[in-house]
Amino acid sequence: MIGSPKKTFQILKKYGFHFKKSLGQNFLIDGNILNRIVTGADVAGNTGVIEIGPGIGSLTEALAKSAKKVVAFEIDDRLLPILADTLSAYKNVEVINQDILKADVDKVIEEKFADCEKVMVVANLPYYITTPILTHLLENTSKIDGYVVMMQKEVANRLSAKVGTKDYNSLTILLSYYTDVEYLFTVPKKVFVPTPNVESAVVKIMTKNEHEVDIDAENFFTFVRQCFAQRRKTLLNNLVATCGKDKKEEIIVACEKAGIDSARRSETLTIVEFNRLHKSMQEGNLVK
Ligand code: SAM
Repeated sequence: MIGSPKKTFQILKKYGFHFKKSLGQNFLIDGNILNRIVTGADVAGNTGVIEIGPGIGSLTEALAKSAKKVVAFEIDDRLLPILADTLSAYKNVEVINQDILKADVDKVIEEKFADCEKVMVVANLPYYITTPILTHLLENTSKIDGYVVMMQKEVANRLSAKVGTKDYNSLTILLSYYTDVEYLFTVPKKVFVPTPNVESAVVKIMTKNEHEVDIDAENFFTFVRQCFAQRRKTLLNNLVATCGKDKKEEIIVACEKAGIDSARRSETLTIVEFNRLHKSMQEGNLVK
């Protein structure tokens, strides 16, 4: 098993591999956690899996044993010869040397997973880009059925935060629109090399087929992010920062029309309220 502590250290030594902190490289060395991730994603013989950042292939191996096919995106080309070696026995694995944020995932799914009944993203994410990865995938493809991903515990808490709490932010709203989020389990620091500074958590995110709110998705999430740009400020101050000081009176009117007090803070608004406000601001030609 690639992900056992002994085998991992052997592989690292054999290739003289040095971790790059800048790429979020913390490798899992616990077979039990690897199996719980695969089980959590319900990976079966009909499942196509996209993995982000296979590292030396420990999670990839666990996935390959259950999935129909695994396509793994790895940015660090030093890992390619290692993966070619460690995963040589698994013919259902393909490694693509590309930044996931630049990948055309829809095209990959069409080309590689035509014979799969379900497509899941399963990954121990590079933590420095957890939010950009989730945003990129949720906004750019509807062909993924769900995600079982490890991330910083702090971010995991934000994904399922309740309105009005300190963890509630634009990511919470994005996730609540596209998905149902389930916190699966907490992961201690000691199951990684090198040991990270933060605790981790595995989260299951299943894509919704229908949306409860009728939003203009192309512009809505940009608007929500603008409302959260400066957390400590009121909605009015954030909107003034976006639209310009000269628009202050028009913003107050747009808020009134939407039935929202502009002195509120963004973390107190539900997605339905944000949508009303967005539409009212659009009608006033204040935002896109
Ligand atoms: N899956 C392995 C494991 O669990 O042991 C490694 C996980 S490690 C937390 C994150 C991996 O993502 C590293 O292999 C890193 O090189 C890779 N990575 C970092 N940024 C990436 C990006 N933008 N696109 C694809 N892979 C990336």
